[in-house]
Amino acid sequence: MSGKECFEILDKIFLPKKMENIENIKGYTMKYGHIVENLKEYDGFEVPESAIVDEVLVSYFKEPMSYTTENMCEINTHGGNIVVKKILELCLKNGAEMAEPGEFTKRAFLNGRIDLLQAESVIDIIDAKSERELKAGMNQLEGRVSKEIHDIKQKIMDVMVNVEVDIDYPEYDVEEVTNTEINEMLDVVIADLSRLEKSFDNGKILKDGVKTAIIGKPNAGKSSLLNCILNEERAIVTEIEGTTRDTIEEFVTVEGVPLKLIDTAGIREAKDEVEKIGITKSKEIAKDADLIIAIFDSSKDLTDEDKEILDIIKNKTAIVVLNKMDLLNKIDENMAEIKNVSKYIVKMSTLEQKGIADLYKSIGNLFSMEEISLDNTTVITNVRHKNLISKALNSCREAKKSMELGMPLDIIAIFLKEILENLGEITGETVTDDIIDEIFSKFCLGK
Ligand code: GDP
Repeated sequence: MSGKECFEILDKIFLPKKMENIENIKGYTMKYGHIVENLKEYDGFEVPESAIVDEVLVSYFKEPMSYTTENMCEINTHGGNIVVKKILELCLKNGAEMAEPGEFTKRAFLNGRIDLLQAESVIDIIDAKSERELKAGMNQLEGRVSKEIHDIKQKIMDVMVNVEVDIDYPEYDVEEVTNTEINEMLDVVIADLSRLEKSFDNGKILKDGVKTAIIGKPNAGKSSLLNCILNEERAIVTEIEGTTRDTIEEFVTVEGVPLKLIDTAGIREAKDEVEKIGITKSKEIAKDADLIIAIFDSSKDLTDEDKEILDIIKNKTAIVVLNKMDLLNKIDENMAEIKNVSKYIVKMSTLEQKGIADLYKSIGNLFSMEEISLDNTTVITNVRHKNLISKALNSCREAKKSMELGMPLDIIAIFLKEILENLGEITGETVTDDIIDEIFSKFCLGK
């Protein structure tokens, strides 16, 4: 429970072993006792066993030193459905209200303990599917991204002061200086924002994974390759079930690169000859993949179907897997048709589980995550932030263009204010209530 009256409500349901006035209880302490139904009725009398709901520990947090900055208490019960439900009912009956999804974090934001960027990182941390993604979330929670946005804003505001002086007191002839100043500032800000905008490419991969499709003609070994990958990585595989069985996607992390394997259900379920995934389906799957693993049966000559597959991957990020290397080899890795479509050609035998390390190495090379050694770079992982950064960049460019055209300073000032507003929307200073509500509605209850 969080809020002004939470200790009063607690008082009506919690009987501590050692009674103490709430004023004397320090924050960050725990008390042992019992949750009791109709506690007030027993004022000063022995509480009958039948009224005791559970034996609990209660932690106390006193404002402003709490998650929400308000008074807070947490009741640690034995868990289970009935006990928890009963205690929740008692809290509600005695004046508490159910929290909305994300309400605790929302209060921390509204009360100014954290900014919007930090609040949003809480979801990222909870939803993190890889350690790197978690790290990015933690960096954001610790305020690294906020600081960077704040520094950029400060650079604009420093110049803005002079611009306002020029507008308000045109009799002081300082315009020349200001023009150079604005131009230099805009160049710096454009460079900063561009770097952040670009970091989203990696940020998106961190968050969503590299959408990976395994394609190939029937019997090339798609299903065997999938199993190879999934078996190898069994410990960290998570199945994300969509609305239909068809949309099962699986997450694996390879060489630090999170892969989202798409259409794994399709590959697995296509068992018999009629059902096997053919070229048309492969085309469809490949369409929105970030990475295509195209697999070929190297024990047979290249067929027309294989050539169609090569055609699909021609201008894509793709790795060619020459499978069934344990058999007599008909396809040569040096064949022009193959060499032309990808630099990454891997010889494998999925049957004997050979070559998988080379495949992983290729993936690691293609999506070098080293660039985002998260210790010293800021990565934007949230599309809302990315869009606002792009907007701010646009305003920067507009401002520069207007300067070149010799527009008056009050026009330039409008663009500068726009940039500040976009950046303020990222940290939550200039954000509307609707957006705040939308952001927190994505949280789960109790966060
Ligand atoms: P898909 O239709 O592309 O999913 O192909 P499958 O993975 O179902 O494999 C088709 C057949 O090829 C199966 O009988 C597999 O056992 C066999 N196969 C797959 N990989 C290899 C391999 O590396 N070597 C050999 N000898 N057979 C393989």
